[in-house]
Amino acid sequence: MEAGDFKDFAKAMTDYIAEYLENIRDRQVVPSVKPGYLRPLVPEQAPQQAEPWTAVMADIERVVMTGVTHWHSPRFHAYFPTANSYPAIVADMLSGAIACIGFTWIASPACTELEVVMLDWLGQMLGLPECFLARSGGEAGGVIQGTASEATLVALLGAKSRVMKRVREQHPEWTDFEITSKLVGYCNKQAHSSVERAGLLGGVKLRTLQPNNKRCLTADILREAMEEDKRNGLIPFYVVATLGTTSSCTFDALDEIGDLCMADDNVWIHVDAAYAGSAFICPEYRYLMKGIEKADSFNFNPHKWLLVNFDCSAMWLKEPRWIVDAFNVDPLYLKHDQQGSAPDYRHWQIPLGRRFRALKLWFVLRLYGVENLQKYIRKHIALAHLFEKLCLEDERFEIYEEVTMGLVCFKLKESNEVNEALLRTINGRGKIHLVPSKIDEVYFLRLAICSRFTEDKDIQESWEEIQASANEVLKSLKK
Ligand code: PLP
Repeated sequence: MEAGDFKDFAKAMTDYIAEYLENIRDRQVVPSVKPGYLRPLVPEQAPQQAEPWTAVMADIERVVMTGVTHWHSPRFHAYFPTANSYPAIVADMLSGAIACIGFTWIASPACTELEVVMLDWLGQMLGLPECFLARSGGEAGGVIQGTASEATLVALLGAKSRVMKRVREQHPEWTDFEITSKLVGYCNKQAHSSVERAGLLGGVKLRTLQPNNKRCLTADILREAMEEDKRNGLIPFYVVATLGTTSSCTFDALDEIGDLCMADDNVWIHVDAAYAGSAFICPEYRYLMKGIEKADSFNFNPHKWLLVNFDCSAMWLKEPRWIVDAFNVDPLYLKHDQQGSAPDYRHWQIPLGRRFRALKLWFVLRLYGVENLQKYIRKHIALAHLFEKLCLEDERFEIYEEVTMGLVCFKLKESNEVNEALLRTINGRGKIHLVPSKIDEVYFLRLAICSRFTEDKDIQESWEEIQASANEVLKSLKK
């Protein structure tokens, strides 16, 4: 493709994208295709000869859009949001054009340096203590990981390398295998499944602890587990505190967990605020991260709720050396003269390669400004409270969990089976899309505010759809 065609194609695509997003409300939120729908729509083999871009453009609706779930529709209320904004889309175009692989500083200095500064901007926006920021002048700083799952694993590996070094010094007679077999990490039973997986990938025990009746992991619960394990000769070394659990968006008691873990300097605290972390740009929600200064690492996903398209998972480390030094393999072809004077991000992550992701943070932060981002978060939370109010006005329904962010957990005051039928009916009618969850054998529905286009009238419409579905289900019960 020559530059002239590229310009025409990109212009046509820009028009298409704007049209798609501005009118997304009118599309069926989940497609009605069946598995295998796509193969008959495309040829068996790749074309031998180049096709014109107009032919590709002409196939987007027919082949792709017929099978797309529209995550940015105001009718989409499943999971948690994934971010989408025009500045981030444009930044990804530029990233695609530069197409560098910024594994070391010299591999593309701007790629590394913009990331260092953006993570400082973002950290200040959240009110993170200086001890996490690169601008503090020490070793601390931030890095963009692909996902929160990677951040949890990287933190676990850092915790593991720190504790291994200490225990080796205390017990030179123990082999690494013996030490590893004694290590144990902890998280709330409601923590994301990626935490348990990090334990499996990291080759250590990871205990999921039953939280209190507010689905919150407290210091007392953690202390009891840690003491029991110590009595059995194990070595507690890693705790994940979740701020905003996936099922129902509850918050672990970070402050008191921090005090407990600081008394034992083997224990690394990682904070997983994948979804809710974005809300900390609003000072009124920072009470939920009280005690953050006691953590060793902190992570949240701007790609969930801060208008930066996937993938952009922001992670800060107080002492990155436990990752940077512990997993440092340094072949000649990756060395450079400036080593040590700026981060070489290849040491801060699992893969070697990395895209220029800081561009989309830079574009979003500048083109929205902190105030508009705060307005965006507050609006989503207000919309969640509007839905909560509508729900509470209908005496057939109840709220399952206190609403703090943009997620409402609710159910009919009926059995699990009736609520399962309700969800089936809602999704079966095809107008809106929700997913359920279950905690302690109670099945409930989750309504997440996901789209940046959502307005009060959309919430009203979603609620009417839920009421209509409830009418159907409850009527069929009476038959
Ligand atoms: N942690 C929490 C609390 C989450 O809610 C999620 C996903 O929703 C994750 C981790 C996993 O996020 P990622 O897909 O970025 O790995």
